[in-house]
Amino acid sequence: MSVFADIDWREVGREAGEVLAEYLRIDTTNPPGNERAAMEFLAALLARDGVESELLAQDPARPNLLARLRGAGREPALVLLHHADVVPAGPGWSVEPFAGVERDGWLWGRGALDCKSLGVMHLFALRLLARLEVPLEREVWLLSVSDEERGGGAGAQWLCREHAGLFSEASDLLGEGGVGLQMPNGESLWLPSYAEKGILWLELSAQGGGGHAALGGSGPAERVARVLARLSEKAPEVFITPEAERNLRSLAGRARFPLSLLLSRPRSPLTRRLVRSAARKNEWARTLMCTTMAVTSLEAGAAENQLPTSCRAILDCRLHPADRREACLARVAEEASREGVTVRETLYAPPSRSPVDTPLFSILTETLRRLGPTPHVAPALFPGTTDNRFFRELGLCCYGLLPVMLPFGQHEVHGPDERIERSQLERGCRIMAEIVHAAATARRSQESGA
Ligand SMILES: [Zn+2]
Repeated sequence: MSVFADIDWREVGREAGEVLAEYLRIDTTNPPGNERAAMEFLAALLARDGVESELLAQDPARPNLLARLRGAGREPALVLLHHADVVPAGPGWSVEPFAGVERDGWLWGRGALDCKSLGVMHLFALRLLARLEVPLEREVWLLSVSDEERGGGAGAQWLCREHAGLFSEASDLLGEGGVGLQMPNGESLWLPSYAEKGILWLELSAQGGGGHAALGGSGPAERVARVLARLSEKAPEVFITPEAERNLRSLAGRARFPLSLLLSRPRSPLTRRLVRSAARKNEWARTLMCTTMAVTSLEAGAAENQLPTSCRAILDCRLHPADRREACLARVAEEASREGVTVRETLYAPPSRSPVDTPLFSILTETLRRLGPTPHVAPALFPGTTDNRFFRELGLCCYGLLPVMLPFGQHEVHGPDERIERSQLERGCRIMAEIVHAAATARRSQESGA
C-alpha cells in the first residue's frame, strides 16, 4: 500500500495554494532580486515540520537556502532545485502581479509557473515525508537559489563553484525545464527534460563605405545583411539522437499505416528523410532537432541620407547537444568571410545532458503515466537554459520537470497573467511527492542486482 494512502490530496492542494499565494506576494523581481525574504519564508515553513535549513550566501541580501531531510545515507542525496527570483512583471496584467490573487480556480502572479509553484511542490514533498516519518535510503535536499534569471552569479553558479564539495554528497537533481503539453490536436504529452541546449552569441561586424546615400549602397550594412540572409535561408542540420529515435518509436503506436511502419524504424533512410524535412518545416521540431539562430540586434547608420561606415549584428545561436561550438562557428564564419564580415564570439555556455537509462528517469516516467492525465511520456530536450547545467558539470544527473499541463504555444512564462490552476498545483504536489518518495526509498544497488 502507498505510504500516502491516508493523505487527503485536496487538503494538501488547499494548503499548497495558500503557501504559493504567500510566496507570490514576496516580490523577488531580479534585478535586484532581494531573495532573502523568500528564503526566510521557506525556512520557517520547513522548521514547522522539523526540517532544518541553512543559508549559503555570497551576497547577504541574496542567499541560497539548503534544507536537508535526513536519510540512512546508503545512497548519495537527491536534490530538489528551484529558483526564488522572478523576471520583472512587465505590462499587460489583468491582476496585480505580486498580490497572490486567486480567481476562478487559478492562482495568479509573477512566478506562478516559473518557478515558485515548483518550489512549493518540492516543499510539500519534503514536508509530507517529514510528517509521515518515512525511513529514507538517502537524504533529500531542498535547494532554493537566487539569481537564476540573470545567470546564477549569486546563486547556482556561485554555489557550484564555492561549495562544489558539498554537492559531491549528491548524485541526482530534479529542477525546472520539462512540463506537460496539451497539443493542438487534443493529445497531451509529458516532456521531462534530460538535456538543454548550449548558447553561442556571435557578433558580426563590418566597416567601410560612408558618404552620400544617393551614391547607392554596397557598404557594411548590405554586406552584413547578405550574410544574415544566407544564414537564415540555409537548411539547418537535423540531429537525430538516440533519444529522438526512442520518441519516434513511441509515436509509431499512435500513427496510422504507413507512417506507423516508418516511425517504428527511425534508422531507415526513408524515415530519416521524412524527419529531416519535417524538422525544417515545423518550428517546434526544428527547435528540438536543430541548432537555431536568431538575429537579436542589428545596428548601422545615423541618418536617412548617409551611408553607414559600420554595421554590427548579434546572432543568438542555441546549440543542439549533438552539435559542436566549432562547427557552428565555422558555418557562420564561412558565410561571413565571403563578405569580409568579422565574427567574434561574445558568450558561450555548452549544452548539457544526462542519461535517460537511469532508475530515476524510470520513476519519473512510471509516476507520470500513473498519475497524469496522459500515459504519454517522452524525454525532452529543453530549448532554453536552466541552473541544471551547473550541477551537470559537477557530475549530478539532472532532470527538469514542473508536473503541470500547459496549452501548447501559450506564453505566460515571462509574459503577463502568469498563473497556475489550483487543481494542477494539487496534482503536481502529488506527482512530486510520489516521485521523491520512490527515488528516496529505492536502493539502486538492489535494483541493478549488484
Ligand atoms: Zn525558471
